[in-house]
Amino acid sequence: MKLAIMGGTFNPVHFGHLRPAEEIRERLKLDKVLFIPSARPPHKDSEIIEPFHRLEMTRLAVKSNPHFDVSTIEVMREGKSYSVRTVEELLEKYRAELFFLVGIDAFLEIPTWREAERLFALTNLVILLRPPYLFQSLSQSPYLKSISKSVLSELDQGIKQGYRKVSENGKSIYFERITFLDISSTSIRRNLKTGKSIKYLLPDSVESYIMTHGLYR
Ligand code: ATP
Ligand code: MG
Repeated sequence: MKLAIMGGTFNPVHFGHLRPAEEIRERLKLDKVLFIPSARPPHKDSEIIEPFHRLEMTRLAVKSNPHFDVSTIEVMREGKSYSVRTVEELLEKYRAELFFLVGIDAFLEIPTWREAERLFALTNLVILLRPPYLFQSLSQSPYLKSISKSVLSELDQGIKQGYRKVSENGKSIYFERITFLDISSTSIRRNLKTGKSIKYLLPDSVESYIMTHGLYR
């Protein structure tokens, strides 16, 4: 089984999470995509609402897709949550080949993640185009030293739709262009705070949930 995992705060989940995941599922012929809302970060960021609500909204968002599912693995875990632990636990549970989906912005934060090298040894990585970032910004990453700048530039220009690099450890790193959706949870929260519409940025069911519970006011 080929299992994709997409972690995030999903505060709230939106079409910029859902559509890229669906495109990658089709393109890489993955069996399933697991959306994994994160636990409350240790440095309590008041902008990040309770895991319960983020989980419920993510459940509503994936409901219509038989290939999508939501995992409570990080929300239920005691103490700090690290991606590497999540990956280890999922490997144990599913015995599947894992594909770790991550946007360019989130990938660039990996140097601060725990045991990043070990994470790369356990899972394939799929780096998604994420507006407004360019693939070329990945040349800063200490983990992508061997990727040529011209490949990254061809991805940015759309000359290449995707690129796969097989690592020495046998795992692959994919660079994938996906439908460019300049949507962020930050901008959705901002709209809500200022009384603006959030229609067509996320599923109707998630919008209704936000309104019913008066979230992000
Ligand atoms: P926030 O603005 O609160 O940071 P966000 O929109 O960035 O929210 P996250 O939950 O932080 O959403 O992101 C989860 C994952 O989805 C990350 O890997 C991120 O790069 C990716 N992602 C988020 N939005 C998009 C998008 N519009 N297109 C492609 N990838 C995205
Ligand atoms: Mg983000």
